[in-house]
Amino acid sequence: MKEMFLLKLGEIVLKGANRRTFEDKLKQNARRRMACFGNFKVYIMQSALYIEPQDDACDLDGAWEACGTLFGIASMCRCRACDKTLDAIFHAVTEYLGDELTNAKSFKVESKRSDKSFPLNSIQISQEIGGRIAEAYPHVAVDVHDPEYIVNIEVRDFAAYVHGPAVPGAGGLPTGTGGRAALLLSGGIDSPVAGYMIAKRGVEIEAIHFFSYPYTSERAKEKVIELARLMTRYCGRMTLDIVGFTEIQEAIRDHCREEYFTIIMRRFMMRIAEAIGRDHGAKSLVTGENLGQVASQTMDAMAVTGAVVQMPIFHPLIGMDKEEIVTRARKIGTMETSILPYEDCCTVFTPKHPKTKPVLALVEAEEAKLDVNALVARAIENTEKMQLRYYEQP
Ligand code: ATP
Ligand code: MG
Repeated sequence: MKEMFLLKLGEIVLKGANRRTFEDKLKQNARRRMACFGNFKVYIMQSALYIEPQDDACDLDGAWEACGTLFGIASMCRCRACDKTLDAIFHAVTEYLGDELTNAKSFKVESKRSDKSFPLNSIQISQEIGGRIAEAYPHVAVDVHDPEYIVNIEVRDFAAYVHGPAVPGAGGLPTGTGGRAALLLSGGIDSPVAGYMIAKRGVEIEAIHFFSYPYTSERAKEKVIELARLMTRYCGRMTLDIVGFTEIQEAIRDHCREEYFTIIMRRFMMRIAEAIGRDHGAKSLVTGENLGQVASQTMDAMAVTGAVVQMPIFHPLIGMDKEEIVTRARKIGTMETSILPYEDCCTVFTPKHPKTKPVLALVEAEEAKLDVNALVARAIENTEKMQLRYYEQP
C-alpha cells in the first residue's frame, strides 16, 4: 500500500451538535487544497482527516506542505496503511520505517487501538511488534523511557497505520466556520500577522489596502499584493481591495490641523473598510494595532479611531510584544516581504507632534472642514479588486 497522510482534528472534537458542520468545512477546504497536487481521496473518520493519493502522479511533498497550513488540524503524520494483522503491521514497519530504525540507537513502539474488536490491546500490540523489531534490528536497543525513535501503530476501523513521530498541525478552526472579516492590510509586519491570527479562528479574510500614489510607489503596492498572496497559504482564497487614498490624504493635509492628520486619516480608513467589508459580507474589522506601539495606538487614539464605525473591530495583536509578533511573522513566512523598504501611506504627511490623547469632539470638529461622505464615496469608487491564492488550482 502507498504512503498517505493522517491528520488529527484539533478543537473540532470539542464541538457538540454542530461538529458535522466543522468537519464538512474542513473536508471541503482540504479537498480544494489537495486538488492542486493531484488526485487525492479526502475523508474524515474517527476524529482524523485521511488524505490518500489515488495515483503515482500525485505530488506528495507539495500536498504535505500544504496540509501544514490547514486550519483545524492539531497534529499530522505521513503513514503507511496496512491490513489489521500483526504480520502485515510488522511488514509495513520494516518497509516503511526500516531506514529510520536502522539509523536509530534506540526505539520504542507506541500503539493506539481505536478498533476495540482487535484481539490485542495497545500494550500487547506494542510488545508484540516491539519484540519483532528488536529481533530484526539487533543493534537498536529498546528504550521505553527515552527512545531516539518512536514507531507508532494505530489500529483504526478499516486499516492499521504505521508511522514515525507526528508533527504539529496549523491548529485553529477550519476556514469558513467563523464568518468573514475585513482586514486592514498595510505593508508592515503587524497586519499580516493580525490577519493570520483571526483567520486561524476559522474566519475568512477580505483584505483592504490604502494606497497613495504617487506618495507611495507601485512597488509598495506589489509588496502588499505579495503579502496578501503569502497569507492565503493559511487562510485560503482572499479578495484584496486596493483603495486610492491620495485625494483623502491631500484633503486632510490641506484643511486640517497637523497634529490630527494621522487620527483623521485612520478614521477615513475605518469608514471605507466598513463600507467595503459590509459589501463583501464581513461582520468585523481587523487591524494590526498594538497597544502603545505608536501615537495612534494609545487607548485614547484607538477609541477615537474606532468611534467612527459600527462594526466590532478586532485587534489580535493588542497585547503582544514586537518580538512575539516578529517571531510569528517569520513562522508564517511574511516577515521577509514585510521588511522590504517601501513606504506606507501612514508615513506620508506624518505630524511632528501627533496627539496621543485626542478628544473625540475636537477631532470631529477638524473633520467637519472636509466633505467626508463625498471623499469616502469617491475613494470606494476608485478601488482596484483582485483575487489571490497561494495554492493554484490545476
Ligand atoms: P503594520 O505593521 O501592520 O503596518 P504598524 O505598526 O506600522 O502596523 P500603523 O502603520 O499605525 O501601525 O497601522 C496600524 C494598522 O492600521 C495596521 O496594522 C493596519 O491594520 C492598518 N493600516 C495602516 N496602514 C494601512 C494601509 N495603507 N492600508 C490598510 N491598512 C493600513
Ligand atoms: Mg504601518
